[in-house]
Amino acid sequence: MKMEINQISLPILTEKKIKLFIKRIDKIHPFISGNKWYKLKYNLIEAKQKGYDTILTFGGSYSNHISATSYACKKNNLKSIGVIRGEKHQVLNSTLEFANNNNMYLYYISREKYRLKNTREFLEELKLKFGHFYLIPEGGNNDLALKGTSEILDKNDKQNYICCPVGTGGTITGIINSQLSFQKVLGFPVINNSLYIEEKVASVVNNDNFTFINDYKIGGYAKFDKLLVNFVNEFYKKHKVPLDIIYTGKMIYGIIDLVSKDFFSKGSSILAIHTGGLQGNRGMEDRFGIKIIY
Ligand SMILES: *Cc1c(COP(=O)(O)O)cnc(C)c1O
Repeated sequence: MKMEINQISLPILTEKKIKLFIKRIDKIHPFISGNKWYKLKYNLIEAKQKGYDTILTFGGSYSNHISATSYACKKNNLKSIGVIRGEKHQVLNSTLEFANNNNMYLYYISREKYRLKNTREFLEELKLKFGHFYLIPEGGNNDLALKGTSEILDKNDKQNYICCPVGTGGTITGIINSQLSFQKVLGFPVINNSLYIEEKVASVVNNDNFTFINDYKIGGYAKFDKLLVNFVNEFYKKHKVPLDIIYTGKMIYGIIDLVSKDFFSKGSSILAIHTGGLQGNRGMEDRFGIKIIY
């Protein structure tokens, strides 16, 4: 599949002789956006081949994964169950309303219980409650998801650096496994204490040509400051590339800051993966009263 690539022009890039490209996998589908499309792809095929009629998965109440899975299931005539962290609110937020409209059954569990989601006891409980289902773990990560994310890069992607945001690490794992030998992957984690993710990624990938950049978390998951919001809004106005506040905004902000600090040698080319996540901006706007242009 040929994906749109945007080259970004900025005085700082010209000055430092760096080329920056953004691979728009966010555009792969309006609702099954970005990396989530790749993670779901082989899982849905597998579920159907094995004769399942229901998918069950997990996520927070603003989760891009929940949003994408609900739509993908509807389109594939699969029932879907979303196990949601936290209590039910009277009025559904935009993400959960979307999932609900796609007929996803929303099952709320406490944060304490959510931590047990990978235990056998909890899965048994879910089976008793919901019967036979195909399980997609939180963040969509399993071997079939990694097979999918290893297709994000294609043979035309020849830049020296590949950059991608990191949540649970499934996306960067697929990217590292499929990069060319002269390339280097830079991961931009968004959660605090992400060392265990780095270690997990390191333990499963087939090469060690990658680095985690920990300086652009801006407070951690779903945290932000004014500077970031301004950056994302100005970036959209200047380049017509919409970014999300949680993942891609922090990565692009980080890349440009690194360029200004001479992290990249002259003549380098960078490919940043736009992993999507734009639906999450609505939730950030509603929760924090900020205005994001995207
Ligand atoms: C889910 C998500 C990520 C994180 O992907 P992982 O595979 O969990 O590391 C990155 N960017 C966006 C936009 C996402 O929605």
